[in-house]
Amino acid sequence: MHATIPFDNSYAQELQGLYVPWQGQDWPDPQLVLLNDALASGLGLDPAALRSPAGVGLLSGQALPDGARPLAQAYAGHQFGGFSPQLGDGRAILVGEWLDPRGQRWDLHLKGSGRTPFARGGDGRAVLGPVLREYLISEAMAALGVPTTRALAACTTGDRVLRQNGLEPGAVLARVASSHLRVGTFQFFAARGEADKLRLLLDYAIARHDPDLAGATDPALRFLERVATRQARLVAQWMGLGFVHGVMNTDNTTLSGETIDYGPCAFMEGYDPATVFSSIDHTGRYAYGNQPVIMQWNLARLAEALLPMIDPTEARAIARVTEVVEAMQDSYQNAWLEVFARKLGLRTPDAALIDDMHSLWQGQSVDFTSFFRALPAALHGDDAPVTALFAQPQGVEAWLRRYRAAVPDAAAAIRDMNMVNPLYIPRNHLVEDALHSASFGGDMDPFRALLERVQNPFTPVAGMEHFAQPAPEDAPEIVTYCGT
Ligand code: AMP
Ligand code: MG
Repeated sequence: MHATIPFDNSYAQELQGLYVPWQGQDWPDPQLVLLNDALASGLGLDPAALRSPAGVGLLSGQALPDGARPLAQAYAGHQFGGFSPQLGDGRAILVGEWLDPRGQRWDLHLKGSGRTPFARGGDGRAVLGPVLREYLISEAMAALGVPTTRALAACTTGDRVLRQNGLEPGAVLARVASSHLRVGTFQFFAARGEADKLRLLLDYAIARHDPDLAGATDPALRFLERVATRQARLVAQWMGLGFVHGVMNTDNTTLSGETIDYGPCAFMEGYDPATVFSSIDHTGRYAYGNQPVIMQWNLARLAEALLPMIDPTEARAIARVTEVVEAMQDSYQNAWLEVFARKLGLRTPDAALIDDMHSLWQGQSVDFTSFFRALPAALHGDDAPVTALFAQPQGVEAWLRRYRAAVPDAAAAIRDMNMVNPLYIPRNHLVEDALHSASFGGDMDPFRALLERVQNPFTPVAGMEHFAQPAPEDAPEIVTYCGT
């Protein structure tokens, strides 16, 4: 068979004990629904080869070329605060890795490729709606400049799978990431007390994500700092977009700092720190406003897993990692200020102005995304587009006066702001409609139109105004599901 990807499988070679060799399931009629041509080409893959029967076999997981050593990865994780010592890829396989033309290593991973030994009670399947949701939102995030796993392709399998809305088309998502190592990957060996394996994993993770740390003193501590910094920056970016991940379990927290596992995620419309979409997040653990604290908690779990490699004396090890985990608060706060300073077109962060902006929003259901696209008018002296977003606009004009005074060069600020503040995000009501049409009406057109918009989030297009509008007042409340 024609090898569409020149695999080079470091994970399979180096991390025995952290996986089970495993194949994808055979499907009745695998069909390619979407291929990300631009991503494929950028990573040195040939889109035409991926569209061929051999390519579709590869992307749907049933006909893997020579050189692939497909496997299901083992990992542990805290889910909603409770620890499971063994989770792992229950419905996914890592097909393999390859090097792009710049020498960067990528994982090709299939989600929905059938049951694995880690499936527990699950059916090993994915259905088209959630696969398209992950495709859409991860590509939106990439276009918004947020580190993320990428969607390479979506295939249908030709059979139907039972979910809460009835029978849905079975599907497989092919995704690409700089690795699928998670906080939960370290937790897996830590929970088993396998110190030598833990060391092997640390060396592997460093080689993959922080090669400059190879041979450094205190590699585990330095690595923890790196992950903490990446994750603090990542969450700050989420906050700047109103993104609610929805299931920030430690098995869904990468070491690379990429956003992963787009299950119940959604973008907040009306500003409210308590915003939750997930049907299973009853306590609001993963609400918009909790995300920074949860990420710090997740990093504390990584720190625990690394303890034996930090210092032979446990008390000293704890003191050293505690310092790193606590410092995350400052690095997050700085990253958050920088994100919002950029959104306001400020050269230097103005904490009082940014804090007061958040206070203004309280209880006002201000559409988060529209607010920032209305600010340029205010910089030109027209406050109306901003004040119109508030239920009670008292105080808004005074804040806008302070804001104008903080921006010396309005034209330059507006140019910068329109490159970071999206006009088009995946609006929940449009996502729901597009996924419903695809899953139950066999019509991909609404999805393709929405994808096209969110892949070009900053550029206004005439006739596309409705893509920038929040949900109508009478739209049903959005509830999201893990997709399982
Ligand atoms: P998630 O919260 O979607 O990241 O999934 C948590 C765990 O459940 C992972 O170990 C998944 O592999 C597993 N899982 C989720 N859905 C299924 C399914 N339909 N079949 C088997 N395992 C699943
Ligand atoms: Mg997961």
